[in-house]
Amino acid sequence: MSIQLKREANKVTLRLRLDFAFLLAGLLCCRSSLGAPDRGTYHSYNLPPYVYLYAGNDANVIEDLDRELRNIVPEMELLLGTRLPDKIQIELPLTKSDFMWLTPGSVPDWAGGVAIPTEGRIVVKTPLFFDQNVPLSILTAHELAHILIDAASGGHGMPRWFNEGFAQVLSGESRIGYSSRLARAALADRLMGLPRVDGVLGFSVAEAELAYAESHAAAQSLLDRYGWEVVRNMLFMVGSGSQFDRAFLESSGTEYEVWQSEWLESAQQRYKHYAFLDTDTIIWVFIMLLSSVTVVVVWFRKRRQFKKWQDEEAEELPNDRSHKHEEKSHDEN
Ligand SMILES: [Zn+2]
Repeated sequence: MSIQLKREANKVTLRLRLDFAFLLAGLLCCRSSLGAPDRGTYHSYNLPPYVYLYAGNDANVIEDLDRELRNIVPEMELLLGTRLPDKIQIELPLTKSDFMWLTPGSVPDWAGGVAIPTEGRIVVKTPLFFDQNVPLSILTAHELAHILIDAASGGHGMPRWFNEGFAQVLSGESRIGYSSRLARAALADRLMGLPRVDGVLGFSVAEAELAYAESHAAAQSLLDRYGWEVVRNMLFMVGSGSQFDRAFLESSGTEYEVWQSEWLESAQQRYKHYAFLDTDTIIWVFIMLLSSVTVVVVWFRKRRQFKKWQDEEAEELPNDRSHKHEEKSHDEN
């Protein structure tokens, strides 16, 4: 069904979003220096369960995004054994100041979006001011995965690495450079380990990339070893009030601490070897090999040239001698 037909007649503006004003009351003083966001009209697109808020003129953006989400989200719901709430608000700010206005608390610059499960909202940066080569549909699916994980765990909260790792796995997000970042960290013996991922919101871009890469790798490793049923059971147990450690042990049969240190050890070994297959490394090895081959070829050419000169000189010497000999006998005559 076309978005144009379903588009709500009412237009909402950021000015009218007083609910946010209350939520952000504690932040207004520090944000006042940033100035109010562009108060351009945000259109509301009601496509249940999604309500999109978007200020752009191109309705195809919403139509395309909605189509993609309807492909991705049912699979995510199936894998997690839970469903999105009946209404999810997807806010798509076009500028950084709008994003900051719409998101509670301090959100690092490298974040592509924010999920606020208690309010059934997600805020996702549009490619207009967030260009990290991740499609808008994947960024949005990532934030919706957080809503689903929260629903599956009854809002009790999972470890940060679990949340970020599975949000990436479920949304199909795979950022360029993850493997090389893991490889470089493993080679330098500087993988951070999963508990440290908890502090990701205070990390620099480089640290955050490593934290996300480790979360993704750990979630994938957990899945490869135990499968979705065990993951669903962990979520269910946490949702029923169990601590994560206990849910992990009872679902997988392995102590969380043991699995965690085994994973770190295996990641250390695996990605250290991967460093030698890393694109940057391959380019450098290729350059070094090319340089070595060039040096050898030049050496052989010079050697051949030198030998040629030696041979020519050797040929000329007897001729000179016979020539001189001939001249001498001619004089005698
Ligand atoms: Zn996330």
